[in-house]
Amino acid sequence: MRAVRLNAAGEPLRVVDLAMPAPSGSEVRVRVAGAGVCHTDLHIVDGTQARVALPVTLGHEVAGWIDAVGPDAARPLRRMRLRLGDAVVVHGGWGCGECRDCLAGAEQRCASSRAPGFQVDGGYAEAMLVPHPRHLVGLRRLDPVRAAPLADAGVTPYRSIRRAERWLVPGARVLVIGCGALGQFALQLLRLVPSAGGDLFVVVRELSPARLERAAALGADVGLLDGEPALTLEALGRRADVVLDFVGSESTLSHAAAVVAPDGLLVLVGEAGGTIPFGFDAVPVESWLTTVAWGTRDDLREVVRFAGRGRLRWDVEAVPLTEAAAAHDRLRAGQVEGRIVLVP
Ligand SMILES: [Zn+2]
Ligand SMILES: [Zn+2]
Repeated sequence: MRAVRLNAAGEPLRVVDLAMPAPSGSEVRVRVAGAGVCHTDLHIVDGTQARVALPVTLGHEVAGWIDAVGPDAARPLRRMRLRLGDAVVVHGGWGCGECRDCLAGAEQRCASSRAPGFQVDGGYAEAMLVPHPRHLVGLRRLDPVRAAPLADAGVTPYRSIRRAERWLVPGARVLVIGCGALGQFALQLLRLVPSAGGDLFVVVRELSPARLERAAALGADVGLLDGEPALTLEALGRRADVVLDFVGSESTLSHAAAVVAPDGLLVLVGEAGGTIPFGFDAVPVESWLTTVAWGTRDDLREVVRFAGRGRLRWDVEAVPLTEAAAAHDRLRAGQVEGRIVLVP
């Protein structure tokens, strides 16, 4: 089968021919319908992403069809009411299945968690192996090419909003930094927060005018083209109860720390590698800082449910798998408005 692999950081992506993987034990083979191209893929290619094992087939945002199953996968699949040929999206946090985090359903947090496209082969390929059926979420009638971005661009903002629930009360001020694919899902998911969604005041900070227009269409109250913290505070009307940083660079993080309220929450999502100092004079008193990586399986199920009910809009541009390198170049150059999905 065809696959797109990275052999070493800084090297070009290579289109190679690999043997079709055969599932053993509890493994499931998913025939890939599409794999989303994420900024994190660029960080992996650049060698700035931690916790990566090369060489690897990239692709952590994957949906497709159940294609073949190992002998121990049949029974759990039946319990999940999934069958050969069903369309599924792959949850990417593969934990040990036995520790406290895994048993709580938060496998993405497991200390020995592995993820496709990072430490094991992912979905930039015609097929991929998933270690257990529990990592699959059925798509029912959703088109798997369109649904691929839900596996990361959809679920990660949902997770960050779930973690911000305590702060998301009517009248809360929210700053969203970066309005790419994740930010665009975040804007819509914020409006779906029970009892407060319609009453949140949401400011978006973004470098691209086109994306700011998109932000307005998706429900942002104010869009800011970059600018100093003073400008952001003026737009918010007061300090931010919640800042969602989907970029995560040195400059966006220090901007976030400068505008978050005392007792407010700063959620770091983007993996651009920025850091900020933490201490009494470094961040507002009693403010809260957290990172978010993926979401739980249940979070992904919820996002798939919202999508299935037509509550989420997102743009997908299908590109042939063999053009992965060109897709990376375009993402790097900021020439992608929605999500590129590589189709084998
Ligand atoms: Zn990603
Ligand atoms: Zn575990």
